[in-house]
Amino acid sequence: MILSKSSYGPPRCGVVVFPLVSMPADAAPVNPEREVALFPISSVRILGGPFEKAAEANRGYLLALEPDRLLAPFLREAGLKPKAPSYENWENTGLDGHTAGHYLSALAGMVAAGDDTADGKLRKRLRYMLDEMERCQKANGDGYIGGVPGSRELWKNVKSGRIEANGFGLNGKWVPWYNVHKTFAGLRDAWQVAGMEKARPLLIGMGDWCVDLISGLSDAKMQEMLRAEHGGMNETMADIYAITGDRKYLDAAYRFNHAAVLDPLMKREDKLTGLHANTQIPKVIGLSREAMLTGDDKAATGARFFWETVTKHRSVAFGGNSVGEHFHPLDDFRRLLESREGPETCNTYNMLRLTEDLFEMEPRAEYADYYERALYNHILASIHPEHPGYVYFTPIRPLHYRVYSEPDHCFWCCVGSGMENPGKYGEFIYAKAKDGIHVNLFIPSELKVSGGIRLRQETKFPSRNGARSRWISPSPQPSRCVSVILHGFLRMASRSP
Ligand SMILES: [Zn+2]
Repeated sequence: MILSKSSYGPPRCGVVVFPLVSMPADAAPVNPEREVALFPISSVRILGGPFEKAAEANRGYLLALEPDRLLAPFLREAGLKPKAPSYENWENTGLDGHTAGHYLSALAGMVAAGDDTADGKLRKRLRYMLDEMERCQKANGDGYIGGVPGSRELWKNVKSGRIEANGFGLNGKWVPWYNVHKTFAGLRDAWQVAGMEKARPLLIGMGDWCVDLISGLSDAKMQEMLRAEHGGMNETMADIYAITGDRKYLDAAYRFNHAAVLDPLMKREDKLTGLHANTQIPKVIGLSREAMLTGDDKAATGARFFWETVTKHRSVAFGGNSVGEHFHPLDDFRRLLESREGPETCNTYNMLRLTEDLFEMEPRAEYADYYERALYNHILASIHPEHPGYVYFTPIRPLHYRVYSEPDHCFWCCVGSGMENPGKYGEFIYAKAKDGIHVNLFIPSELKVSGGIRLRQETKFPSRNGARSRWISPSPQPSRCVSVILHGFLRMASRSP
């Protein structure tokens, strides 16, 4: 059933209009108080161990990619001359440009995490990508930045309501909203994670393009369009609302809520069997983001229920889910044991992002436990530490092998999410609560707290049990008590230096 806008909109939402206007004078960033808040990646440094080694491998992979080849589809669609030919594989067979968005996010994460080269090569690349995308946005003239083949005609048709959608296609194109969602997310990360100011107006320009594009579509047309995989469009529009405080973006986020999938979840019904798994997870991240920003209880219930059913009833021991990219029957894991196409990396990447949101709203130990299990066993293992490359599937059938990507030839979805993972390794280790600091993961690292005070964690986990944390201060401080909360349930008092 497709719900009407009035019953499906954000709480306290009245009449919805979508004018293309400049920012309201009273708009301000929206940052509701949360139970706990993860520290920015730039506050955490990983100090040795397998995560640092994997980040080094990732740096090599990112540097092996050529920005001008990733940017070629964007220039082509903007009517500009590409400086190099497009890459092949998924990059010139319909999903043109999807990797560039991931590349922005990956560069932003690595730069913020302190994993850049000494001479700042990754930061320079990030700046160059943004400069070129700015050129494309100016040439397009309507805020759009994208590499979807035949963009102009496609989006013109969509805007006018000419829509034909199926699971992986919209008007004959390969998941165009999924594709542009990567650009949205990359621009957001370039600004929010790496602090690149240039990305902010580019992102808001994209947001305005999107708001205008869907403004004339009825709710029924929107839901018809959402049958095609569309990434986390609800998430990124909610993020633009959080950045700007302009409610038109929040309304747009809610219009991207796919009722056929999200309504049952909000009623705590699991109707996921047979669905393409990674199409659904980003929709639920969007739901959790809406809950976080608005206090929408139904959205929070749906996001929590999805997390529970996927992690407790649809996942294997290492935290992955899906077979052949789809959710299998709840009571039958046999195909997972037999198939070459075991759990997909993108799914776990997205499940960790959902877990972060849920943990910030309610710091339950089970969220941290799942995160630890999936990060160590699936995500860390999805990149080869010595011959940089990422895996698509992690088959669990006995004596099977893994297939790793190569920089010049492989542009799968899991290459995109795979290159983002290392820049996020430090994201969940620590969280700030009203009464102390949560230590969620045993990873050798250092947290910059404030005033030059740092919390250093020394551990060889998982090869050896145990971890030691100590405070480091640049100067003698008055003694005061600080709580360190381990996985949300073990608490010990420590003294600042
Ligand atoms: Zn994937």
